[in-house]
Amino acid sequence: MDPVGLNVQMAEVRALCDAKGFSASEERIWEMLALIHSEISEATDCYKKGGSYEEVGTELIDAIIRILHLLSALGLDAQQLYEDKMAKNWARPYKYNTVRGG
Ligand SMILES: [Mg+2]
Repeated sequence: MDPVGLNVQMAEVRALCDAKGFSASEERIWEMLALIHSEISEATDCYKKGGSYEEVGTELIDAIIRILHLLSALGLDAQQLYEDKMAKNWARPYKYNTVRGG
C-alpha cells in the first residue's frame, strides 16, 4: 500500500537519510532525539539574532525532517498518529484549560 499524508514525507526523508548514510538503527534513538532539540535551538537562535522568517522556517523544517526520520526509525505510522492526536486535541476545551501559556 502506498503511503498517505505525512507518511509520504516520512518515506522520502527515510530514503534520503538511507542514501546519505544516516542510520536509523535503534542505538541512534537518543542521538536522534537530541538532534531534534538542536534544530529547535537553531530556530530559536536564528530568531533571536534577527534571522528572517524564512531562515527560522528552514530550521523548523530541519526539525520536522529529523522528527520524521525518528518516527520512521521507530516504525510508526506518522499519519495515523497525527490524525489520532489531532482528534484528541479537537476534543479538548478552549486553551486546553491551561491557566498560563499554552
Ligand atoms: Mg538546522
